[in-house]
Amino acid sequence: MDCRPQCGACCIAPHISTAIPNMPNGKPAGVPCVNLDDAFNCTIWNTPDFPPLCHAFQAQTEHCGETQQQALTILTQMEQDTAPDI
Ligand code: SF4
Ligand code: SF4
Repeated sequence: MDCRPQCGACCIAPHISTAIPNMPNGKPAGVPCVNLDDAFNCTIWNTPDFPPLCHAFQAQTEHCGETQQQALTILTQMEQDTAPDI
């Protein structure tokens, strides 16, 4: 599938453990990336700063669902399922 404009669910739900532009300590799960604009689009897409790990994330129906809300629900569940036990 093509990435859905004005979604950004994959920039909110998952944690990112490595530094990304403007977030040197990575990103906690459930926190919007600071590089998202108010319309949930990435402000550094197609620039030299666009992180390889973001480039590697491909839109797929199984984790993107049909809507932003579905994607948030699926990706949040995936995040919880893969979180280390504490
Ligand atoms: S969750 Fe999927 S559709 Fe939404 S922005 Fe990410 S890749 Fe695109
Ligand atoms: S850098 Fe862009 S694509 Fe990557 S998580 Fe942040 S907003 Fe999303």
